[in-house]
Amino acid sequence: MFLRVFCFCIVHIFILHSTIFWYIIENMKVVVKRSRRRTISIKILNSGEVQVNCPLRYSDNQVNKILEEKEEWIQKGIAKVQQRYSEHKEFYNYSKIMFLGTTYEIKYVENNIQIGDYLIPYRKGSSAQNVIKKWLLKMAKSLILPRISHLSEYCDLRYKSTKIISARKKWGSCNSEKEIRLNFRMIMLSQSCIDYVCIHELCHLKYMNHSKYFWSLVQKHLSNYRQIKKEISQNNFVLDLF
Ligand SMILES: [Zn+2]
Repeated sequence: MFLRVFCFCIVHIFILHSTIFWYIIENMKVVVKRSRRRTISIKILNSGEVQVNCPLRYSDNQVNKILEEKEEWIQKGIAKVQQRYSEHKEFYNYSKIMFLGTTYEIKYVENNIQIGDYLIPYRKGSSAQNVIKKWLLKMAKSLILPRISHLSEYCDLRYKSTKIISARKKWGSCNSEKEIRLNFRMIMLSQSCIDYVCIHELCHLKYMNHSKYFWSLVQKHLSNYRQIKKEISQNNFVLDLF
């Protein structure tokens, strides 16, 4: 099918070297950002928008042509994002939250936000999302860091440092300097998922890859890791939140 791309509105913003155009492809919003990069990338954002990052030299026609070629892939990506959103709507609109694997309603009680037995001070007018994010970060630091320290001793796999971070795509990472980074969003997962992510990163201290040796080390410390991996992948939408 021929793809019709219309210039949606004349938004032509110069931010350093990037140019932003808005297009509509078959009722979809496409944002094209031109910058001093060498390659072109197409991303489906959680909002369902399509974002094209391309070098300055790419003309509108060239971008349209690439979008035409990739239309099927783009449509599939958008459908996936929309499905993930509709399956977890209450989490995306922050009426519910998961904490240590249990789902709670987010309640507003006097000057507090209530999540299970926890009361988080909240001033009307401030962003509830920010208040909850700060609380999750605090809880992640106080619960996950001691846990990985314990697991490190238990598995006899020693790191140099650990840090709770806010990354969008990954649950955790480990570099050759033996520094482990863990996503604060993990605190929304069950204890067994938290342990899995910690053990996964600890095993990278020995094997910086996903070889069979790596997986057998994971299995040695966590025999049912395959089942837990499945549970995590069912909860990957949590990475989009906050
Ligand atoms: Zn890994």
